[in-house]
Amino acid sequence: MTTPANHPLEGGCACGAVRYRLTAPPMIVHCCHCRDCQRQRGSAFAVNAVMEADRVERLAGGPMRNTLPTGSGRPLDDYVCRDCGTSVWADYGRRRVMLFVRVGTLVAPGCMLHDLHIFTPSGQRWALDGGARSPRMGVRESAPIGGATDPVTSRTANCASITNQQHTTGDPLLAA
Ligand SMILES: [Zn+2]
Ligand SMILES: [Zn+2]
Repeated sequence: MTTPANHPLEGGCACGAVRYRLTAPPMIVHCCHCRDCQRQRGSAFAVNAVMEADRVERLAGGPMRNTLPTGSGRPLDDYVCRDCGTSVWADYGRRRVMLFVRVGTLVAPGCMLHDLHIFTPSGQRWALDGGARSPRMGVRESAPIGGATDPVTSRTANCASITNQQHTTGDPLLAA
């Protein structure tokens, strides 16, 4: 049986048609509180794992590009499942070399420890009271368990202890 603990860096869309694997740790993981992210995600902030594009391996499906307007005027190419519309990653500014993988689409998103919060002046106060305004801004809030010199280990070290609680029902990635 496939378990999140075995595949902490795999992810996909809501219907399971698009699946991917991260073959390297992200360069950085951020929570973006800008108004574009709030509007486009329909949420208080977006959580993105910033990846070198060639380190995002497509396992199944091909998300389609959906270009969104932004406040900066630079194009934002959002990549969504053709069937269910889930955004799995985005190319901000159409750089092509860097992808912002939507952390919530990972099999075990809790394994991806965030590094910092950005654009906090436009953040929703209720969302920031949980720690983003704390002096720890710019520092991971969860201390890695061992292996601190290995970025893969340190970013995923707590997976084994949390994945069982993370996935109780309905993850299409685990249904097969
Ligand atoms: Zn889908
Ligand atoms: Zn943003």
